[in-house]
Amino acid sequence: MQIITLGNELLKQKATTVTEINDELIKTFGIMLEVMESDKGIGLAGPQIGIMKRIFVTHAEGDVKRFFINPSILETSLETSKMEEGCLSIPKIYATVVRAKEIKIQAWNEKGRPFTLEASGLLARVILHEYDHLEGILFLDRLTEAKRQRLIEKYEKQANIQK
Ligand code: ZN
Repeated sequence: MQIITLGNELLKQKATTVTEINDELIKTFGIMLEVMESDKGIGLAGPQIGIMKRIFVTHAEGDVKRFFINPSILETSLETSKMEEGCLSIPKIYATVVRAKEIKIQAWNEKGRPFTLEASGLLARVILHEYDHLEGILFLDRLTEAKRQRLIEKYEKQANIQK
């Protein structure tokens, strides 16, 4: 399984709701964890490996591995935090992104059980970043247009992509 990168149209598309939690989906999670860990990531969403379903995995430092199916963000704090982010789909590009500091999320786990989670700090950030992927939003889209353009150019130069 390969991670798709910036420029691939799939990264701009909305993922669809999971209708059945079956063995195939559980297998997908295993694959996603492997891919994420081999790239030293702390989160990976379905669309990043071309699976256009509302699923993602996280493994934030100091936290357990988590599986999210059909997540909804129930609450976001007004208080925000700034943190540098990167993305496995945009290698070697980093930028400071402003996001809610605390969140409350509801989702289903790999056993098909619904759960609610309150998260803050790095975990909240990873969850919001991965959730964005399900909406076709990249962290670059959360920057100013000028900053975004500059980083895309930097990325294209690095990746040696011809315009
Ligand atoms: Zn990402």
